[in-house]
Amino acid sequence: MIHKAVKSFGLGLTLLAASVSLYAKNNVVVVATGGTIAGAGASSTNSATYTAAKVPVDALINAVPQIKDLANVSGIQALQIASESITDKELLSLARQVNDLVKKPSVNGVVITHGTDTLEETAFFLNLVIHTDKPIVLVGSMRPSTALSADGPLNLYSAVALAASDEAKNKGVMVLMNDSIFAARDVTKGINIHTNAFVSQWGELGTLVEGKPYWFRSSVKRHTNASEFNIENIKGDQLPLVQIVYGSDSMIPDAYLAYAKAGAKAIINAGTGNGSVGNYIVPTLKKLHDEQGIQIIRSSRVPQGFVLRNAEQPDDQYGWVVAHDLNPQKARLLAALALTKTNDAKEIQRMFWQY
Ligand code: GLU
Repeated sequence: MIHKAVKSFGLGLTLLAASVSLYAKNNVVVVATGGTIAGAGASSTNSATYTAAKVPVDALINAVPQIKDLANVSGIQALQIASESITDKELLSLARQVNDLVKKPSVNGVVITHGTDTLEETAFFLNLVIHTDKPIVLVGSMRPSTALSADGPLNLYSAVALAASDEAKNKGVMVLMNDSIFAARDVTKGINIHTNAFVSQWGELGTLVEGKPYWFRSSVKRHTNASEFNIENIKGDQLPLVQIVYGSDSMIPDAYLAYAKAGAKAIINAGTGNGSVGNYIVPTLKKLHDEQGIQIIRSSRVPQGFVLRNAEQPDDQYGWVVAHDLNPQKARLLAALALTKTNDAKEIQRMFWQY
């Protein structure tokens, strides 16, 4: 009898806990780094002339009181800079802070407010080095907080909704801009003046409407928990040096040589078309690869499509790598991470196929 009563009491508690957790809000931490979303202009009509990275995280959160209905929100000011000034030091420090947050059982999701210029780089880097299934969402804005029709508040509201959503788990790091949910690996800033600034040639993962995500695809590439890279295994505040050379007609080899002299371990060739290299540049790249062991990685300055191996250049013969569909700035980060593990071009190529 007593046993039965205890059992039904236990069942009651379980049901109560289940119903509480059904209604309990998730805990989301907003990690602020600066950018236009924290920007301030002289007047409300200054939508493009303003100072980025001015407004502190608490003011950002308080400007959108509706986010408290979506989640228990707290804020951390990780950085206060314009994103073009982010270096390995800031990137690694941010990754470590985010890693610490997602390891906490009390944190269900993370939103990172970020300048839009290098938002895609930070998103991709975190996608590669943070092992978690918890949603990590990067968000920015194109208009400063003081502008007419500022886009930051709704973007932040939607980003918090996404980070608080259990449906957003295990989708890799995401970017929320202008109601669209993008995968970190293929999102890029495509327009530098309008609010629909971010695009992906493979399409968005989903759309966020009135605080609810609607999903349409998922990325097939390795990320987060499935990544072989882990911020916990990366020491120091610098990644192996990798730089990008932008391709055009009428080039001179000096930029490649200067990067080699500066100690670059890999050079991303943002080539024309299919990652092409002018015939008068090929000998320089062959020399840097063969004599100095510098990895030559062919990406493209063309924003869509992907670089085909052994098409424009005999990559197998030269021991070069193709960046597949990663744009030069993303290729730079994957190459740097790859070089923390190996200097074997075949291994690096495998990574470029898989991520
Ligand atoms: N260049 C600044 C940055 O990336 C402002 C641009 C923006 O956030 O939209 O932080």
